[in-house]
Amino acid sequence: MSGAKSVVFATGLCSVGCYYCPISPQRKSRDVVYVNDVAVESLRDLVEEVAASMSEGVGITGGEPLLVLDRVLEVIKVLKDVFGSRFHVHLYTSGVGLTEEIMGRLVGAGLDELRVHVVSDRSLEAVELALDYPVDVVVENPAIPSDSERLKNLVSTLSSLGVKYVNLNELEVSELNFDLLSLKGFRVSSSGRSVEGSREVALEVLKWVEEAGLGLSVHYCPALYKDAYQYPRRLLRRALATRRVFEELGYGLVKWVEVECYEELEKLVPVGLVFKFGSTCFTHPRVGASLELGRVVEALPLTPRKALNEY
Ligand code: SF4
Repeated sequence: MSGAKSVVFATGLCSVGCYYCPISPQRKSRDVVYVNDVAVESLRDLVEEVAASMSEGVGITGGEPLLVLDRVLEVIKVLKDVFGSRFHVHLYTSGVGLTEEIMGRLVGAGLDELRVHVVSDRSLEAVELALDYPVDVVVENPAIPSDSERLKNLVSTLSSLGVKYVNLNELEVSELNFDLLSLKGFRVSSSGRSVEGSREVALEVLKWVEEAGLGLSVHYCPALYKDAYQYPRRLLRRALATRRVFEELGYGLVKWVEVECYEELEKLVPVGLVFKFGSTCFTHPRVGASLELGRVVEALPLTPRKALNEY
């Protein structure tokens, strides 16, 4: 909710093939690494992006991160080395392919939490295996409409295994999964972000868990939370850490005024109201408005800035 974690996308490779997989075509089935929205080429890039986002932890996701285990181990180790042992690392996996040896190596590298997306009985075996290690074990699955009985059975099994937390995500609609979801008869909800009926199924399971008195917590994560809170708040943290003096902060955006320099404007450079780079002058939008300068640029606070609008 506070956007205090960076998302490390470790690889787009995955052998499972869920019909609801929301990964974008630019990443799907490609062995690429991103931190938040930024493609990274090295561990140094990765650490810099996490630092620029003032993150207090990361979630390592994919694809299936266990397919690039050595990369994941290196990432965990370097993040713990640079940001300290309290820097929280959780790792998403379908659990397919998880073994005692792999689990031991992940824990040795400093993993704090394993989040298993249950796709088969093999995932449940992975949950059972991980529960023997000193990490939090969480199950995170999408709430699929018409799947309430299966979800209840799953939660009940997890409760008897000793799992403490389950996250149910509202089933998101993306560019990639829209066709398959439509073929299965699902419809897009009025928000345009999620599948109709997903929220209701999640709430039904929550109510059932409470009534059944199961000893585990179930959290429901609406798709809106990512767009309305997590993502802009993460951008806000990045904007605060990397703000240039002439930028105004918005909710997840930065703004400035950018014009071709001219003599009168350059007179304001020595007093710190205007900043000159090459032949371009930059100033804060408030200064720009008082000087009646045009061309406000609105951008995502990435490095370099990614312009979204000009007006
Ligand atoms: S396990 Fe995850 S990454 Fe793999 S296909 Fe399913 S949703 Fe996509």
